[in-house]
Amino acid sequence: MDDLSHFPSEPIPEEFYSEYEERPFLTCTRCGETLSDFTEGFQIAKVFRRSEVVFEYALCAPCHIGMIDEFSIESRKALEDYYKSNMTPGLGAQQCGICLLERESLPVNEFSLGAACLGSQMLEAFMICSPCMEKSNLLVSKKTQGIWNDFIDNNFPGVPDNAMPCPTGISIF
Ligand SMILES: [Zn+2]
Ligand SMILES: [Zn+2]
Repeated sequence: MDDLSHFPSEPIPEEFYSEYEERPFLTCTRCGETLSDFTEGFQIAKVFRRSEVVFEYALCAPCHIGMIDEFSIESRKALEDYYKSNMTPGLGAQQCGICLLERESLPVNEFSLGAACLGSQMLEAFMICSPCMEKSNLLVSKKTQGIWNDFIDNNFPGVPDNAMPCPTGISIF
């Protein structure tokens, strides 16, 4: 994981910019460090309800790994198994990686986007529709849900609970 520069990549598309800052994410949502300083890259997540972004963050690799480490072993294992057996990698941001529906064919226009980035480049992107997110949510223990809720409370005060994605909004692969 030390050298990601050989991965095929493209400039981070505007869809993965910070809606709030109206520019590319510059700093980690959790630790505030400059994202482009991290040679291990960083993760972007955005959750859309209809055409609105209800939630977004960018996490540097150490914060991302640190948060997943706090999840219970059972939750982590359940999520890994779920994604391993259900997720089709490499589909990009226009198609649900689990049920394979195209974005414009979703019954409800709600989905989350994730991207793995390095510097100004995007290495990988995925989309998961909201019904598929809810399914993976059920795999997560109360404790893990609690860790996630604390993260939200600490970083996004004032965001209503029901606007929150599940911990699986985070890429774990
Ligand atoms: Zn960080
Ligand atoms: Zn789906």
